[in-house]
Amino acid sequence: MMIIEKTRVSFDTDQEQQVWSTWHNKFLFIKYCGQCEACGIRTYLFTNSDNDPRGPLGEHTNNDMEASEYNSTGPDVIACFSCTNDRKQYEKLLAISKTKWTRVNES
Ligand SMILES: [Zn+2]
Repeated sequence: MMIIEKTRVSFDTDQEQQVWSTWHNKFLFIKYCGQCEACGIRTYLFTNSDNDPRGPLGEHTNNDMEASEYNSTGPDVIACFSCTNDRKQYEKLLAISKTKWTRVNES
């Protein structure tokens, strides 16, 4: 397989991508995660590095809401970094999450 060196991420594809990061000094592998359930932006994450919105993913950085972090069970709710850091959007995500999650009773 030929490696195509890219420095920019394409935010209109569902395909896996790799971009060269001079800061990490390695290729970063990028996976499409789905659209943020609050704002609809397409979200992506690195499969071999920490997600950092200051990097090439920018506002497209995925930051899913995980049920286990809210004492609940259910599927991850797809979210972008911006929405999870904006009070109004975060509350919207919580409301969406509540329709999908089942609360686990603490023993
Ligand atoms: Zn969002």
